Amino acid sequence: MSPDRDTYRHRGQRRALVTLLREQRGIRDERVLAAMAAVPRHLFFEPAFEAHAYQDKAFPIGEGQTISQPATVATQTELLGVQPGQQLLEIGTGSGYQYAVLCQLTSQVQSIEFNPVLYARGRARLAALGLPTAGLHLGDGSLGWPAGAPYDGILVTAGAPALPPALLRQLRIGGRLVVPVGAQDPSQQQLLRITREGPESFVREEFGGCRFVPLLGAAGWK
Ligand code: SAM
Repeated sequence: MSPDRDTYRHRGQRRALVTLLREQRGIRDERVLAAMAAVPRHLFFEPAFEAHAYQDKAFPIGEGQTISQPATVATQTELLGVQPGQQLLEIGTGSGYQYAVLCQLTSQVQSIEFNPVLYARGRARLAALGLPTAGLHLGDGSLGWPAGAPYDGILVTAGAPALPPALLRQLRIGGRLVVPVGAQDPSQQQLLRITREGPESFVREEFGGCRFVPLLGAAGWK
């Protein structure tokens, strides 16, 4: 990915970020840490913020949206437990950074973005970086992407008011949905992992309070 714009200094900053994720943020999955080490986060930033790309913080990407904090990206990815060859769906392409991280773990990734400006920008950026764009879609991800179902993993990068029923239906048996659910107040938004154990059987696990921008669309916030 763009060796000329990914300098020795950037790679050093990225190694330091990965050390922080491992030692202070509790990320244990070495494949996830390697994926975070491989993707040049600064190339997903607006120029005004690029110098801050290796801080463990969310930053604006335009249109009132953000690129998620690296610890959040790593945690959500780890909770999916991705294996090579698995089919994944991301809701909320945004900058394309999380998509690029998922593409390090499996070649079968779809991602949907609701905002046409961010969709066009993200798609152009990912193409320029040599990442596959066939899996990128413009649409309402609160309804999932039925054409690619069933999925081994669905990752939602915006906060939903409740579990979106279409996403549960599009999970394979054994598949996992990682999604923030609850009101915008961070003390009420919970990061959830839902595992489909049978056609109508779902196990719910909670991974603490979180704060995400709102999921819009039919099963999102109005
Ligand atoms: N994954 C992104 C990244 O790596 O930059 C971060 C995304 S940002 C926290 C959440 C994104 O979800 C925004 O780009 C927003 O436009 C998008 N979004 C909100 N509601 C959506 C919906 N119903 N379907 C698809 N995308 C949606």
